[in-house]
Amino acid sequence: MATLTISPEEEKRVKAQGFLSNKGTDNFSARIITVNGKITAAQQKCIAEAAEKYGNGNILFTTRLTLEIQGVPFDKIGEFQEYIAKEGLVTGGTGSKVRPVVSCKGTTCQYGLIDTFALSEEIHHRFFEGYAQVKLPHKFKIAVGGCPNNCVKPDLNDLGIIGQLIPEYDEDECMGCKKCPVETVCPMDAAKLEDGMLTIDPEACNNCGRCVGKCNFDALPGGKTGYKIYIGGRWGKKVAVGRALDKVFMDEEEALSVIEKTLLLYREQGKTGERFAQTIARIGFDEVQKQLLSDEILGRKDEILAAKLHETGGATC
Ligand code: SF4
Ligand code: SF4
Ligand code: SF4
Repeated sequence: MATLTISPEEEKRVKAQGFLSNKGTDNFSARIITVNGKITAAQQKCIAEAAEKYGNGNILFTTRLTLEIQGVPFDKIGEFQEYIAKEGLVTGGTGSKVRPVVSCKGTTCQYGLIDTFALSEEIHHRFFEGYAQVKLPHKFKIAVGGCPNNCVKPDLNDLGIIGQLIPEYDEDECMGCKKCPVETVCPMDAAKLEDGMLTIDPEACNNCGRCVGKCNFDALPGGKTGYKIYIGGRWGKKVAVGRALDKVFMDEEEALSVIEKTLLLYREQGKTGERFAQTIARIGFDEVQKQLLSDEILGRKDEILAAKLHETGGATC
């Protein structure tokens, strides 16, 4: 068996830069950030060339839409980073901080209700890059989904955003047709003909918007775009399904501000080693929601960011 020459300190240092030790060897997997799972053809070529030039030729796709090149020797790490930088690519995505943002293809998907790539890219810039030096109690995962089909499972992330189209139904315009296309198209059985009129059960409706424009007359001509936010999901050693905040946010900027408030709250009130789901369970969902719906915590932003907290976070992978 080969003798390992990389010290644990060196291994830790390069892990923080996105280089994960290939067990039993002095080589590393370089984790390349794709912003939100979308890369250009030129970036793909550069990654393929880098895999042949510095690694063993293999490229792996991770669950968080990053790419890993296996077999990069320790002494080639700097050169590797310079090589991929020519296409604007960086390595990273480890540690007790905001992890690579995951997005579904809602921008082009027939069911997409929001521009998921644009929103996830903005989240990447503001919170993956912008909060890169901000130490958190543990890792923090964010996902953006374009509709309630939940393809990228936003509710199993520490924070998940789901696009919404809230139907605007005008009961007065309903003619009580014999067969109602709105009822037929609703996948949640939320829209139902009852006593000769369409009713929408707000508890069952998930704001998928599929009924919008389907009325034979003018009872459902449009809807309002919104953002539902789930907090406290996780998937791994322990599983927790996130819970949606009561409010559907109608403004993208407001939704982005909730992400920032969540990060500040987690940094300030989370205990080192605790995932956000545990912080919420300890503090109570209602209290967390109260803080996220108010702007009070933003007033303490500088103080929270300057505090010496979570010097050694809880993330191990
Ligand atoms: S979650 Fe909705 S918008 Fe996103 S890929 Fe799935 S079906 Fe399409
Ligand atoms: S198609 Fe329109 S008018 Fe007819 S029952 Fe359905 S909602 Fe009412
Ligand atoms: S938005 Fe979706 S779930 Fe709600 S009533 Fe329309 S089709 Fe049904």
